[in-house]
Amino acid sequence: MLEVFACDPQASRGRRYQEAPAPTRNAFQRDRDRIVHSTAFRRLVYKTQVFLNHEGDLFRTRMTHSLEVAQLGRSIARSLGLNEDLVEAIALAHDLGHTPFGHAGQDALNECMQDHGGFEHNLQSLRVVDQLEERYPDFDGLNLSFETREGILKHCSKRNAVQLELQEPGGVAKRFIDGTQPSLEAQLCNLADAIAYNAHDIDDGVRSGLIKLAQVQEVPFFAHYRLQAVEQHPALLLPERARRLLYETIRRMLSDQVYDVIATTQANLKKAAPLSADAARRCGPVLAFSDSMRSQTQELKSFLFSQLYRHPQVVQTSTQAQTVVHELFNVYTKNPHEMSPDFSARTEAPRAVADYIAGMTDRFAAKEHERLTGQRLLS
Ligand code: MG
Repeated sequence: MLEVFACDPQASRGRRYQEAPAPTRNAFQRDRDRIVHSTAFRRLVYKTQVFLNHEGDLFRTRMTHSLEVAQLGRSIARSLGLNEDLVEAIALAHDLGHTPFGHAGQDALNECMQDHGGFEHNLQSLRVVDQLEERYPDFDGLNLSFETREGILKHCSKRNAVQLELQEPGGVAKRFIDGTQPSLEAQLCNLADAIAYNAHDIDDGVRSGLIKLAQVQEVPFFAHYRLQAVEQHPALLLPERARRLLYETIRRMLSDQVYDVIATTQANLKKAAPLSADAARRCGPVLAFSDSMRSQTQELKSFLFSQLYRHPQVVQTSTQAQTVVHELFNVYTKNPHEMSPDFSARTEAPRAVADYIAGMTDRFAAKEHERLTGQRLLS
């Protein structure tokens, strides 16, 4: 049962190219299916979240991260009466524009593109679904519904928003100019994204050995759930049960964040009482943590930032990854024929190079770098 403020596929603002409706699926289900079948989606398996793909088989990749975001998003959507299909479509697509090598790769590509309009991964996700996927006879991209595209464009600089607005008046960039919110489903995906990576980065961080359980236990937010788990299951303190204790702690932490978002959002919705999806876009941020949950998750985020994302070993890999991206960019800019033919044929040179590099998986980028420079980094 959808609430009045949920996005209704029947009332979708539609696709950029008109298509007949599908006989058995609504517009958002169809979007989700198009995303799952896209090339960019399959590449997520081999793209870094925090750890490089070849560093271990059990670390999250952008693919498993996206699946976790979809799972969390859908279960929250169901409780709030929001559109689960739309949440799933946005969640599965939200990282399609990520470069290889995670944030290090994106920062490097942004530096390379400084004089050519820069590089933003959210905008790139939109480019992937609007232009870069080549699957249909009559149009570029996947021709997704407005609501899915709106959710994919999570952030956008004012400068890029103005550009996009010129190409698509009243389209997905308009809210960055007006200062309104995206749909509640899109807001939900942003929160589900944060809940997912805070939890799985602890798991991966501990698994990698880069952070010690004892260190995480110093974060009061984590310590609180660990204590709960130990009180109910004292045997979890046995050394051979350390991994189960970690999972039980993360599980409790995750559930509490989910319940907090649901309760806080229900209260916000009651107060704002939007009577349609559009009215909800004008209400300010509605999907939210309570103040206390937000500050606790912020603490955890700061911990992960300083102890994991800034860990010397992660930083060293990131530096090498940035070298790979910079050098690939330089080589392809001078020798466009080194790219695959559909990219070397494009005339807007620096953007074509950026699109080509952004689409690469970690290992393809490392292999290409070795082929073109003779140096072996990152493998
Ligand atoms: Mg994400």
